[in-house]
Amino acid sequence: MTDANLYFRPTIKGTAMRNRILGLTGALALAGAMMAGPAMAQGASCHGGMSFERWLDAFKQEAVSKGVSRQAVETALAGIRFDPNVVRRDRGQGVFQQSFLQFAGRMTGAGRHSNGVRRLKSQGRLLSAIEQKIGVPPPVVVALWGLESDYGAVKGGSFNVIQSVATLAYDCRRPDFFRRQLMGAVQIVARGDLRPNQMIGNWAGELGPTQFTPFYYFENGVDFDGDGRVDMINSTPDALASAANLLRNRGWQRGQPWLQEVRVPAQLPWREADVDIKHPRRQWVQWGVRSASGRPLPSDGMPASLLLPMGRNGPAFLAYPNFDAFTRWNASFVYALTAAYFATRLDGAPPMGKGNAPVAVLSPDQVRQLQRSLVARGFLKSGPRATDGIIGSSTRTAVKAAQIKLGLPADSYPSPELLQKLQGR
Ligand code: CA
Repeated sequence: MTDANLYFRPTIKGTAMRNRILGLTGALALAGAMMAGPAMAQGASCHGGMSFERWLDAFKQEAVSKGVSRQAVETALAGIRFDPNVVRRDRGQGVFQQSFLQFAGRMTGAGRHSNGVRRLKSQGRLLSAIEQKIGVPPPVVVALWGLESDYGAVKGGSFNVIQSVATLAYDCRRPDFFRRQLMGAVQIVARGDLRPNQMIGNWAGELGPTQFTPFYYFENGVDFDGDGRVDMINSTPDALASAANLLRNRGWQRGQPWLQEVRVPAQLPWREADVDIKHPRRQWVQWGVRSASGRPLPSDGMPASLLLPMGRNGPAFLAYPNFDAFTRWNASFVYALTAAYFATRLDGAPPMGKGNAPVAVLSPDQVRQLQRSLVARGFLKSGPRATDGIIGSSTRTAVKAAQIKLGLPADSYPSPELLQKLQGR
């Protein structure tokens, strides 16, 4: 779960394969079809020149040796070809930056919020049954449903998912992740959940309104409408219960909070504000953190991390242990925070405050300059992606170290002030 190599980090569930949401807090990068990549590895380099057909035969043997019936394997993989179009999509993603406020604003805007409130009512009985059985409350399930597919309105592509994940498993960029997805796809067919021709979805393998890739579908799928099959494409009960089940399988605790917007004081040991650092809530209260409304927080032992996605002047949140289930849904910190925040909104929290002061956002070019300075000063390890313009966990860690060294508030946020100081201006 702590892969620092964010650029190629598969999301835990696979969602950001489509959007490739990058970076941690602050600025993030989204996919756009902006740069057509020249590299079109056909899989030869990581398979010793083995053809796709021979590779697929070997995969079939492996599936059978793992206990999947020969008949199901042949059915699932009949007619599957290498699809260069999928690889082209995979290579053709550019990146652009958005701040957390821009991203969260776009993803959780007025229409999506009011639509979510309507879904809470119209699907109330189903959502209550899911909460009763699985323990994940309705606003959390509806928030993910809304972000993933606009409550099922976005169908998410017309690709043959088995062919897509087979292609990407043979391709050399992320073969292990997609080999697991391919095995999951075969197991879905073997279990009788879907026929191969029903597995239509995104080019990167996501299926249905909650956008599960096949491995996670097979692992977490729930037949909630009781027809004997897990159909996360056509059955809303199955799709939503499976989403809840994935969160439970990733540690969701029934009845516990996940996130709360807060206000921070002018002074605080900023270096403690880190998703990987937890303190009892009473410690944050002692440091002057209050609820967003200004009321005091409970001064208790609830473990909490202080999240400052845009630094100490931007919006602030306390993340509780259940927040970790969101980061396991999608490894992009900004996506996870946006989803968790949207769930609090659907749970009745007021709109997000804009923080204490306007927050400047570095351009991708400035981020690259910052990264080069961090490397030059020894705060960031040099490497092929050290200066990629993307604010990932390693950049944020380096920013924090530089802030501490330079006597700046160590909130890990890459500000123009820090860039100037590093450049000696
Ligand atoms: Ca079902």
